[in-house]
Amino acid sequence: MKIVCFNCQVDMKISKAGTPIIEYFMNPPQPYRILYAADMYSCACCALSVAVCSGRVNTEHFQDGFSDELEKVLSASHAKSYERCKDKQNE
Ligand SMILES: [Zn+2]
Repeated sequence: MKIVCFNCQVDMKISKAGTPIIEYFMNPPQPYRILYAADMYSCACCALSVAVCSGRVNTEHFQDGFSDELEKVLSASHAKSYERCKDKQNE
């Protein structure tokens, strides 16, 4: 996979592997599911960062153990994914 910064036209490099993503849905946004291990890519020129993952689901809100997994993920490095741009302002 090749990831290029559209602003700077340079390759983005992995800055951190294995970062989980918490997906938020509804209004106000609620943690909905946790995805496995994204790779964080950064641009050395403009510091833009992106999280790239397969979308494989670790656990969803209705499954046993979701709250425990969410607490664990929130206490460490993670990324968040909101359903819409404005959702981030409502959290
Ligand atoms: Zn850049």
